[in-house]
Order: sequence, then C-alpha cells, then structure tokens
Amino acid sequence: MRVGKSIILFGPPGAGKGTQSGLISSITGKPQVSTGDMLREAVKEGTDLGKSAQSYMENGLLVPDQVIMDLIRVRLTNDDADSGLLFDGFPRTLPQAMALEQLTEVEKVISLVVEDDEIVSRITGRRTDPVSGEIYHVVFKPAPPEVSGRLVQRNDDTEETVRKRLATFHQQTAPLSEYYRERGLLIEIDGSGDIKQVSASIGTVLEKDIGS
Ligand code: ADP
Ligand code: ADP
Repeated sequence: MRVGKSIILFGPPGAGKGTQSGLISSITGKPQVSTGDMLREAVKEGTDLGKSAQSYMENGLLVPDQVIMDLIRVRLTNDDADSGLLFDGFPRTLPQAMALEQLTEVEKVISLVVEDDEIVSRITGRRTDPVSGEIYHVVFKPAPPEVSGRLVQRNDDTEETVRKRLATFHQQTAPLSEYYRERGLLIEIDGSGDIKQVSASIGTVLEKDIGS
C-alpha cells in the first residue's frame, strides 16, 4: 500500500515543528502525523506499545525503528492518508527514512534550523493545553488567562533530558538532512526568529513551490 506524496517537517526537538505544522497542513491540505504525539497517547492508554516505548522516551532515547514503523503503517490505513501526510518528528533514523520510501514518495523536507542553546530555553518553557492540544511557551507564547491554569508540562521537557535528546538528535537524526539534501528535497528554514517570522518564511517557501 502506497499513499500520495508526503512532506517531512524536520528539525531538533523544540525547533517549532508542532507549532508550525498547522500552517503547513492548511497550505498543503496534508494532515499532520506526529510520532511523538502517537507515542504519548499509547503511553497514556497503557497499551503494550506504550509500555515498551515509555522508558526510551523518558531517557531521551529513540524508540526502536520497528515500533515506529508499525505505528506509521497503521496510521497510513486511515482514509485521510490517501493523498499524503505531513510527518512531524518522523523519520528520525536512516532505516526509518528508507522504510518510508516503500510507503510514500517524499515530496519535500522542510528543515527548521535552530541552535542548541535556543532549543533548551524553548523546551524547558514549553507547556501544552491538554484540552485543545495547543502548544504554548511561558515567555515566547503565553497562554490566555482562561487556559493558563490547566497547562501541563511534558515530563521529558527537563533540561537534563533535553540535553540527552539533543545528543541523540545530533548522532542519529541530523545525518538525515544530508540524505535528503543529496536527493534535492531539503529546504532549510532559519527557525531562530519569533513564531511569526518563521511562519512567514515557511509560507513564502510553500507558496513559491505551489506557484512553480
Ligand atoms: P520533540 O520534538 O520535542 O523531540 P517528540 O514528541 O517528537 O518530541 O518525541 C518525543 C519522544 O518520542 C522522543 O524523544 C523519542 O523518544 C520518541 N520518538 C518520537 N518520534 C520518534 C521516531 N520517529 N523515532 C524514534 N523515537 C521517536
Ligand atoms: P517541536 O515540535 O519541534 O518539538 P514545538 O513546536 O513544541 O517544537 O516548540 C517548542 C517550544 O518552543 C514551544 O513552547 C513553543 O511555543 C516554542 N516555540 C516554537 N517556535 C518558536 C519560535 N520561533 N520562537 C520562540 N519560541 C518558539
């Protein structure tokens, strides 16, 4: 089973992938698929898959490729996947990237480039609204007062775990940008500006592509 052309949103943890994914979905019409969100859901539900993934996630390590590919294959059976998806936080290893090629054609890879020190302040200040799923930041994107009382912090969003996740990213995931660059698919975007500036850069790149 193969689905339509897909887009990958690539970048280190905390680069702003989740924050920008709604914009990209609305421009391209491709539904967002976050393996991190799917794994957190499995952990919350206490499924076998969730139980096996939990310790990797808490320790800033990658969940084994086989587990991730099983999740993706199931997700692709949904009707909304037929015209392709927007992958957020996937693939994260070369074996995942190669397995994905059997399932869909990768149309482009939007890579958000952000320095490690900026990542640490973004992640330690990240908060999520459990009701809407909206992502906030204590300084960079404060929640409105009616929401602020119910915000939650992910238990892997501590400085210690972020450092481990960044090391994992540099070792196992960053080399994928070369892989996609060689294939002419990589679009690098400066992710260091504020949220609106990054959105504007993404909008420009996607509209240029659509126009061409
Ligand atoms: P972030 O973008 O902040 O790193 P995610 O929500 O994408 O967070 O991922 C949280 C955790 O889930 C990761 O640290 C990792 O343990 C696991 N994970 C998510 N996606 C993958 C993937 N594609 N391959 C392996 N592990 C993954
Ligand atoms: P990712 O999905 O890549 O892990 P998120 O979208 O969850 O990253 O963003 C991580 C944190 O940084 C969130 O608290 C978010 O509000 C904040 N953030 C996202 N983009 C920016 C930006 N351009 N400038 C400042 N903070 C940002």
